[in-house]
Amino acid sequence: MKYFVGVDIGSTAIKISIANEDKELVGHKISASGTMFYKYAHETLDALLDELNLSRDDIVYTVATGYGRKIFKEANENISEITANAIGARAAAKEHGKINTIINIGGQDSKAISLDEDGHVVNFAMNDRCAAGTGKFLDACAMNLEIGVDELGDRHFKSTGTPLSINSTCAVFAESEIIGLLGNEHSVEDIVCGVHYSIAKRIVKLVKRVGIKEGIYFDGGPALNSGLVNAIENELSKKIFIPAYPQITTSYGAAIIGIDSYNYNIS
Ligand code: ADP
Repeated sequence: MKYFVGVDIGSTAIKISIANEDKELVGHKISASGTMFYKYAHETLDALLDELNLSRDDIVYTVATGYGRKIFKEANENISEITANAIGARAAAKEHGKINTIINIGGQDSKAISLDEDGHVVNFAMNDRCAAGTGKFLDACAMNLEIGVDELGDRHFKSTGTPLSINSTCAVFAESEIIGLLGNEHSVEDIVCGVHYSIAKRIVKLVKRVGIKEGIYFDGGPALNSGLVNAIENELSKKIFIPAYPQITTSYGAAIIGIDSYNYNIS
């Protein structure tokens, strides 16, 4: 069996996926990007190969993507994360139905991607200018509230009443606003819910720029936050599909692109 590696070096996390020649995901691993992307990417790949009882010799083609893709020089090819995300989303959701719109929230940016019938990217919109509406904003809110980012989802559903409104459009001012709300004795749960709705409203504006088509897929680390998912669904008035491993869609897509490139090169 031949194996194909997708390496997604994001601003916050390194994601590596390995697919077999049937385009099935056989394993994945996630680690923090830290400051030494190159070193950590190789360590993460070696750890994943160990877990799968594979060696580098089993890998026939590697595709790198993401913010730090150019530093992974051993890759046979590197590709934009928008293309890799689109290919990965269609494959990860193949049992669910056709994906036509992707919402991706990463550590430092958020994107909306629109696909055509064949899964090609026809349009995308990106916010990479402002931390509000990104994973970093959620991390900062969780830190101010002295909870883990992985607790945000549960806290959201314990909120009572109308979600608080967080009006600041800038992440720095929003943090001050959150501290002010805490000072006014609002509960952590109500603030968390307010934060999720403020991000959801921004995301809906971004998605509207590319056009909302049925078959909506949400990925990136913040898609692990069920509270944020709930707020986006309510703001969109639509159900959205969350894959089993939302952080690795793009690396999986890169591995699949590797299969197609390899087959094309040998044909
Ligand atoms: P990037 O590709 O830019 O490195 P990711 O898609 O990996 O970003 O997303 C990183 C963000 O995901 C973090 O900043 C954090 O807010 C969020 N995140 C990571 N793990 C979890 C989790 N278990 N629950 C909720 N949010 C999470």
